[in-house]
Amino acid sequence: MIARALLLAVLTVAFAGPAEAGTDWAAVATPAPGQAEVIGSAAAGCLRGAVSLPLEGPGYQVLRPSRNRHWGHPTMVAFVRDLAATAAREGIPGLLIGDMAQPRGGPMASGHASHQNGLDVDIWFRLTPRRLGRAETEAPRPLGMVRYAALDQGAWTPDQARLLELAARAPEVERIFVNPVIKREMCRAAPAADRAWLAKLRPWWGHDEHFHVRLACPSDSPDCQIQKPFPEGDGCGAELLSWLDKPTWPAPPDKPHHQSRPLPDACASVLRR
Ligand SMILES: [Zn+2]
Repeated sequence: MIARALLLAVLTVAFAGPAEAGTDWAAVATPAPGQAEVIGSAAAGCLRGAVSLPLEGPGYQVLRPSRNRHWGHPTMVAFVRDLAATAAREGIPGLLIGDMAQPRGGPMASGHASHQNGLDVDIWFRLTPRRLGRAETEAPRPLGMVRYAALDQGAWTPDQARLLELAARAPEVERIFVNPVIKREMCRAAPAADRAWLAKLRPWWGHDEHFHVRLACPSDSPDCQIQKPFPEGDGCGAELLSWLDKPTWPAPPDKPHHQSRPLPDACASVLRR
């Protein structure tokens, strides 16, 4: 009897690791107290001292607020508010802000492999001149910018292009994932004399309904894991072509991209506190 109970206990502990991954982190509704600090990477990380982006502010609204994924490092919240305010001043319609991070970061039960350390945000390409009601923000309709592997000229406007440029020029932004078709359009339209910011636009599967902004590690976070730097140049040449030439394009490769990686040890105390 005792042996059986012990065995059960051992099994429970052994299975607690990967199985708990997303759900435990999603169940915590409040940030970990303490000074803001990013721990680990976007794909395996967490954060303490997170702040929440107010559900609406000048130039933006948060989508699916009930998911409680509008948290981030203070630098991230400031970035979103600044970008939205600048866009509004330039006459760009309202921004729709998708997922950021959970209150303590960590893996999510659904949707992303990244967004774990409070430095990622999805911003929709759909812009809205009017305030959306609660039902609409909970079940929003996306607007794709790419059709049949080409830019959808009916959806893409100078506003989307300007918004991407504003985001890429922000010094705290490290990289932005966009569909290769969108990167190609940005490369085409940028003036020859001023192209350094284009390097931050990184081609990736999907990302035609939203772009995904990742900020650089903040100076207050020594355990923030820096990403591999990307190649020199504006990224408009061979690298972009290699994406557009992929035999499977535009369908992503048929393999699971949602593998949970082990979190840094420091994240255990972030979850528990
Ligand atoms: Zn994203």
